[in-house]
Amino acid sequence: MSKYLFLFFLSCCFIPAAVSAQEADRCGTQHIHGLQLQQNPGFMIRRLQQEQFTQDFAARQKSMRTMSVITIPVVFHVVFENAAENIPDFRLDSQLVALNRDYRKLNSDVSNVPSVWQSLASDCEIQFCRAGTDPNGNATSGITRTGTTVTAFPVDNSVMFAASGGHDIWDRDKYLNIWICDLVSGTLGYAAFPGGSPSTDGVVLDYSYTGTTGATAPYNKGRSGTHEVGHWLNLEHIWGNDGGSCSGTDYCTDTPNQGNWNFTCHSPNTVITDNCSPNAPGIMWMNYMDYTDDACMYMFTYEQKVRMQATLNGIRSGILTSNGCVVSVAEQEAGQTLRIFPSPSSGLFTLHTGSIPAQELDIHVYTMPGQQVYHRRLEALHEKEFTLDLTELASGMYFVQVNTGAEKVTRKVIIRR
Ligand SMILES: [Zn+2]
Repeated sequence: MSKYLFLFFLSCCFIPAAVSAQEADRCGTQHIHGLQLQQNPGFMIRRLQQEQFTQDFAARQKSMRTMSVITIPVVFHVVFENAAENIPDFRLDSQLVALNRDYRKLNSDVSNVPSVWQSLASDCEIQFCRAGTDPNGNATSGITRTGTTVTAFPVDNSVMFAASGGHDIWDRDKYLNIWICDLVSGTLGYAAFPGGSPSTDGVVLDYSYTGTTGATAPYNKGRSGTHEVGHWLNLEHIWGNDGGSCSGTDYCTDTPNQGNWNFTCHSPNTVITDNCSPNAPGIMWMNYMDYTDDACMYMFTYEQKVRMQATLNGIRSGILTSNGCVVSVAEQEAGQTLRIFPSPSSGLFTLHTGSIPAQELDIHVYTMPGQQVYHRRLEALHEKEFTLDLTELASGMYFVQVNTGAEKVTRKVIIRR
């Protein structure tokens, strides 16, 4: 590690400056970061090591640019004190949809990115699934629900412990834990940077600002989740947390220097300048790591993508071998109707739905680590037997998940050539 880098960390970012009340309200991550530094002596060292790894990774990417899509298993821990806080499954799924939309650059509002930054707006090649297997290898919905007597959780990680009215974490090396609860007034969410305690690692979102349909405007496009997961993957606030002095950094050279955060909403192509970027095109207020309303943030840059990919290939690399997205073997064996044969095969399989003709077939194929590699949906069917053509896939073992409308089952198949 360079001396420069070490001094830079010490001086600018790892000793959090006083955080204003307004800044702390929107996102509690810097507050939690300060607590982590106080409580965990090894935290700063791990953060420094990860930063060195990130910079080396970024240097390699400049010449290679060979990142691949990574799927992160997500478990939602819903902790509720009343019925309104016990938000339904579809709200949680809408949060997953929002994450996949934003991290795969599938958001339609990316077209609003000013032309000067269009080439920077990046598909981060990170996607998310609701966990299908729990830490014990059992089938799970990927959702836990816990009643509590806590009326509003402070920004202090207490929701991450059953002993303080929350729910204990699942293995942070295999899952992204997202707790949903009533947070103290005004706080939309917070997250743990990589390198902290294994018992307090994940994202916390206020139930009002989780997902899309039913969430509270102007934070109802799921982007508190997008922002907080960015922190979990080692992204800093775009203004560098320096109290407006222009000396801080988010460690990305493709985001303009920015003094402070932006609230509310700006029309597309509005040029905003400040003391750190006094000339056009000004500051990148539409970045997910700013504080603008959900409708007005719609991009990650290429260097932000590289930082997150470095995290998943470094300090959070346990995610790469997690089978959390896969539906458990026990659940596969419970369903006896649907058959896929022969296995092994060279890639052509027969899919037989048993005695009942399928009305529809929704077929997903996953690699063992849980990455989706095939999806096909067939409707208005009245047959029992179909050909499943997976000849495009490489040799190996896969999970085929089939929803026939009547049942949803998963089968393991092997392609061998
Ligand atoms: Zn934040």
